[in-house]
Amino acid sequence: MDNIVIFGAPGSGKGTYSAALVEKFGYNHISTGDVLREEIKAGTELGSIAKRYIDKGQLIPDDLIIDMLASVYDTMREGPGVIFDGFPRTIVQAKALKKMLQERGEKISVTLNLKVNEDVLMERLLNRAKIEGRTDDNEATIKKRFNVYYTQTHPLIEWFKKEGVLSEFTFRGDKDKMINEIIDKVASI
Ligand code: AMP
Repeated sequence: MDNIVIFGAPGSGKGTYSAALVEKFGYNHISTGDVLREEIKAGTELGSIAKRYIDKGQLIPDDLIIDMLASVYDTMREGPGVIFDGFPRTIVQAKALKKMLQERGEKISVTLNLKVNEDVLMERLLNRAKIEGRTDDNEATIKKRFNVYYTQTHPLIEWFKKEGVLSEFTFRGDKDKMINEIIDKVASI
């Protein structure tokens, strides 16, 4: 099965491009952010821990995310593939993902790195705040999330490169063109 990592800064369109891949290829989709927001809504213990970090723009501790991810992945083994959206976000998570997949006879098929100019990212996130009302989509928290992205997540690009799974896509103002480029890449793996 295909194991696709979709990767990029907050607001880079991970959810949008994941939805296009789900529609085209029938993949299952794991968004760790969505899973955590569901846990918060359901009032679980994990949700209440997660909320403290999310509202501050910080990452949830690796061990909590890794355990959660493996159990969700195991419910999706029957389909054509899985998209990992918002995971991994640290080197520790990337190594854990590699190991989790290896233990199941699987591997990362490709990592799609979405490259988007920071002004565009900020504008998109502030717009999303008006539509979705996410508690972490305000200017101060967005800035913290960018900072977390550049310090903890961006270094993963080198790791993906070394693993030989990195594929990069630059947004130049045309979402549909970007969707087509991504679909072409995934169709070729
Ligand atoms: P997202 O919806 O992907 O933007 O995630 C929203 C928030 O959920 C992040 O700012 C983190 O606080 C938390 N989160 C989501 N995925 C992860 C992850 N893989 N590791 C740690 N925290 C995460």
